Amino acid sequence: MKTAPLSRRDRLRAQLADLKMPGALEALDSVLASVDAGQGTAADALEALLGAQIALRNQRRLQAAMRSSRLPVVKTLADFDFSFQPSLKRDQLESLHTLGFLERRENVVLLGPPGVGKTHLAISLAIAAAQSGRRVYYGTLGDLITSLEEAQQAGRLTQRLKTLVFPALLVVDEIGYLPISRTGAMLFFHLMSRRYETASTVLTSNKGFEEWGEIFGDEVMAGALIDRLVHHCHIVNIRGNSYRLKNHAELYAVLTPRATPSPTTRRRRINRQEAPTS
Ligand code: ADP
Ligand code: MG
Repeated sequence: MKTAPLSRRDRLRAQLADLKMPGALEALDSVLASVDAGQGTAADALEALLGAQIALRNQRRLQAAMRSSRLPVVKTLADFDFSFQPSLKRDQLESLHTLGFLERRENVVLLGPPGVGKTHLAISLAIAAAQSGRRVYYGTLGDLITSLEEAQQAGRLTQRLKTLVFPALLVVDEIGYLPISRTGAMLFFHLMSRRYETASTVLTSNKGFEEWGEIFGDEVMAGALIDRLVHHCHIVNIRGNSYRLKNHAELYAVLTPRATPSPTTRRRRINRQEAPTS
């Protein structure tokens, strides 16, 4: 009789192992201890147990995705400081992170000047998607185009396209930073046409759509690309200041044309910025 509670615990352990739930198995003792101590309801205990398993599964999915998706870093919505970027609607971003747009095969375009968090938010969407078990892939426009051009030259374009068409979420970062060759633009157009209405793409750009003709070297093609992209699309315009320069207010004033002070003030400010602090 004395051993009954222990054997119940052992049975639970065996069941969790049988169901391949190592996260819940690891949390079992502490969850049962808090129940024994009268802390919380049975529902709280179940929630804690299942929550531990889900957390472990998501962490494993993320680790696997970081290996296969080429995501450069981990950035999450929780790390994003909305108070720094008042032009952003927190509700819209939180709603996007619930991933309904992936099910509806819609796109997200993040537009804004450098340093406002476009890459951060694109990555946090990709990470949320990876944690939900979807396949994701990240590349800058330059990287993606180079890989397509190389594949074409090596006679492996079909294979490469398959890799980039297949993921439920493709991030195309940094549209507008580097010039693109005509072949490159055509290959990218082809990729986006293949993904149109079959899988979601998150794109970031420091240039408005009106400048995409120049980026892709062809107004007609850029028009057709934008047409497909925005057909089912969430456009997030970020109009704030660069987070990279947030601790360099004076440097920011120098680098931002809107707030550019007179050359004398500018020189004085730069001198002060560089002056030893001791
Ligand atoms: P962009 O792609 O718009 O040029 P990034 O997303 O690369 O900008 O942001 C630059 C750096 O600042 C990154 O390290 C990013 O995580 C951080 N960052 C940008 N905006 C925020 C924010 N609002 N809260 C927290 N970190 C931010
Ligand atoms: Mg960026």
